[in-house]
Amino acid sequence: MSEGASNITALIVAAGRGRRAGGERPKQWQNLAGRSVLDWTLSRFATHPEITHIVLVAHPDDAPDIGALDMPQNARVVQGGATRADSVKQGLQDTPAGLVLIHDVARPAISDSLISGVIAAAHAHGAAAPALEVTDALWQGDDFVRGTRDRNALFRAQTPQTFDRDAILRAHGQFDGTPTDDVEVARAAGIDVKIVAGEERNLKITRPEDFARAAQYLEPEMDIRTGNGFDVHRFGPGDHVMLCGISIPYERGLQGHSDADVGLHAITDAIYGALAEGDIGQHFPPSDPQWKGAESHVFLTHARDMAKARGFAINHVDCTLICEHPKIGPHTMTIREKLAELLNIDVDRISVKATTSERLGFTGRGEGIACLATVTLLKP
Ligand code: MG
Repeated sequence: MSEGASNITALIVAAGRGRRAGGERPKQWQNLAGRSVLDWTLSRFATHPEITHIVLVAHPDDAPDIGALDMPQNARVVQGGATRADSVKQGLQDTPAGLVLIHDVARPAISDSLISGVIAAAHAHGAAAPALEVTDALWQGDDFVRGTRDRNALFRAQTPQTFDRDAILRAHGQFDGTPTDDVEVARAAGIDVKIVAGEERNLKITRPEDFARAAQYLEPEMDIRTGNGFDVHRFGPGDHVMLCGISIPYERGLQGHSDADVGLHAITDAIYGALAEGDIGQHFPPSDPQWKGAESHVFLTHARDMAKARGFAINHVDCTLICEHPKIGPHTMTIREKLAELLNIDVDRISVKATTSERLGFTGRGEGIACLATVTLLKP
């Protein structure tokens, strides 16, 4: 373990077609708390400070989905084989010398501390794997109980099973038959494997009900934020109004320092609000002449990029425009499409509504347009 000893690779085995979990698609592609199982598992290792490389062993049929993933920079994809052991071998060929953590893609809720614990034990003992003690009584039986088994000294095996890469690759080359897991392969080659205390949250998604169990561990880690924005601009001379990035012909225009796009201002403020980053006036002071007449998508894309830089996705936008005229209804689909383009999200995550104020107040008297916006940000 001298050369490349500082490399620590997570080898994620994701080539299986297992359907016991139900659903139309293999379980690694099914939705779990807003992301695919595979995306969760990948991110557990991609964000772990000790992991230097990721090798994802995938099924050739999944190439389009893999291509659509936001793959970490240190990750490479390897095509899997006919069996799990073949897939592991393929992955090991592309794994650099050093430690390799071989992990089931179907265990997406593994904690950072378990990953660290297995790495530390593998450094100390050469090879290590997590397991849980058996606490339930164990029976032998068919329809009836035929006997009991001593549960002492029995363990429920988990992954990541962690080895020196060269040693486990050699062990796979020598192994004859179909192994249960990589620990069996290692032991057949005389490698001792240290047991590390596993964790319940590191469950393997196998049956349909396991998705809900795994989601319980993952959801509390999601950062969900809601921000609101409110803006008003008054009418003045002109022949069109800018609303949410589109120009709507009208007998008057909206007045303001920028293009007075009341819709984009409210949505921009809602994003800043969700980030607790002040408001549009702080980022683009009206006193600064460079923003005079500015097109308001500049403000929106600044807020959007700020959310992205903080790891947030814009999950939903709901925007209500309040005026008597111009009539907004005929333009809502165009507005939604424009916002989808500006925010780089799907149009079905954007709602645009219009209302009058029943001829009451300043909007009712036709003095201006108001806009309310609510934005939901999500950081997995
Ligand atoms: Mg404004």
